[in-house]
Amino acid sequence: MIEDKNQQRTQLSDLGEFGLIDHLTKNFKIKQSSTIKGIGDDAAVLNFENKKIVVTTDLLVEGVHFDLSYVPLKHLGYKAVIVNLSDVYAMNAKATQVTVSIAVSNRFPLEALEDLYAGIETAAKIYDIDVVGGDTTSSNTGLLISVTAIGEVEADNEIYRKGAKPNDLLVVTGDLGAAYMGLQVLEREKEVYKVNPNNQPDLEPYTYIVERQLKPEARKDISKLLKDLNVKPTSMIDVSDGLSSEIMHLCKHSGLGCDLYENKIPLDPQVISTCEEFNIDSTTVALNGGEDYELLFTVSQDDFLKIKGNPNLSVIGFMKESTEGIHLVTRADTRIPIKAQGWKNFND
Ligand code: ADP
Ligand code: MG
Repeated sequence: MIEDKNQQRTQLSDLGEFGLIDHLTKNFKIKQSSTIKGIGDDAAVLNFENKKIVVTTDLLVEGVHFDLSYVPLKHLGYKAVIVNLSDVYAMNAKATQVTVSIAVSNRFPLEALEDLYAGIETAAKIYDIDVVGGDTTSSNTGLLISVTAIGEVEADNEIYRKGAKPNDLLVVTGDLGAAYMGLQVLEREKEVYKVNPNNQPDLEPYTYIVERQLKPEARKDISKLLKDLNVKPTSMIDVSDGLSSEIMHLCKHSGLGCDLYENKIPLDPQVISTCEEFNIDSTTVALNGGEDYELLFTVSQDDFLKIKGNPNLSVIGFMKESTEGIHLVTRADTRIPIKAQGWKNFND
């Protein structure tokens, strides 16, 4: 398993709060022209001229959202940023700034927080965003990390969960279920490690799915791709909780029903083989797994030829009147109502 490789253990109390903040944030560079003042004053100052602003926050709690026995802190810092950027991209906006707040117990040495911030810094670099502030406090138990992301969008270009029309195509980016299966592998290896700490896991056959769990990426590219294809989605959401609940959100907010085709759900071969190994139904995993951070959106049927065959995009269904309900059309051509949770027992 991934062990604490920090040889050095500098007590946080040796630095004091201000020393700690300075130390952790000293490498952050301002890249966005909209950032007037970043870290270092009572508040950041941003100037978005005449653009609309989107703001989103996520809170991650140790033991609830992550398990430090197999999540390296660097990956956690990266992921904490990514999950927020994904929400910004789901509005069709460009992510520009984040703030990062942490509550940390004294069981963490400075070196652990350096790792966390190295992940945050890497995400900021790759996604071209500024870290413009945050808060630092102590916690009696575990680690809490809250990231707020800010983004900008040109007038009237934002895309909501509402807005889909009957007959619109339902489209998803990338593939689904990998992060969930990566978690299953990591959980299994954790149990093996508990029994025999000398047993080093062979994660080689699972590199893609483990990476999707530990180091997810957000779909920064899709807004531009759609613009280049001259396609404007009618509604959009990111896939954080699993395909079924995201479909239900789009349907609820747009006042529609939907048919989702099981044989169209994009799955990586490693997801399929790992599902076979764990004896789990891959459709169930795609529908209920979550943490894919792909984008799910609807487009008019008129746009079909523009997106057809694009390797980033899969048409997985189409929208219907709300009276038609929300269904999975299985490979055997049966129609099963989709519920946020619950339908997954249909195979048993
Ligand atoms: P205040 O007392 O006004 O809350 P702080 O001393 O907490 O100010 O913060 C000083 C500066 O450092 C501010 O710009 C704040 O946004 C930033 N900051 C504090 N904690 C963090 C952190 N964990 N990550 C990034 N920036 C931080
Ligand atoms: Mg503060």
